[in-house]
Amino acid sequence: MPIDPTLPYDPNNIFAKILRGEIPNKTVYEDEWALAFHDINPQAPVHVLVIPKGPYVSWDDFSVRASSDEIAGFIRAVGQVARDLGLVEPGYRLLANIGQHGHQEVPHLHVHIFGGRQLGLMLPR
Ligand code: AMP
Repeated sequence: MPIDPTLPYDPNNIFAKILRGEIPNKTVYEDEWALAFHDINPQAPVHVLVIPKGPYVSWDDFSVRASSDEIAGFIRAVGQVARDLGLVEPGYRLLANIGQHGHQEVPHLHVHIFGGRQLGLMLPR
């Protein structure tokens, strides 16, 4: 079920639990601002999620409330992960789902990194 992105941050969401180390993840990158880990249900040969360490529901919430340092740190982390995974030359796709129409399921901002194959059209027709 898509989440309501206008609700306050829920500290019991699954990515908050991952950040607190309460449930395991396959980490590919971590720094002061972000954690990146393999998606549990990959949709491409490479499917990694990058999340900010702060409590932000969605891209909308993050873009309003996060500090400039948090935003810069997170954006740089997304690029770093893609470089570390060797995705720049073949290319890759970033996706952030927001709310109902975006079909966001986890209420903690996450950017999907997809790669490792030709990804085709941007959206299903
Ligand atoms: P979204 O629809 O953008 O909210 O996507 C949520 C993503 O989180 C989906 O691709 C799920 O497969 C992924 N996911 C859910 N739980 C976990 C988990 N425990 N570890 C890694 N990925 C997860």
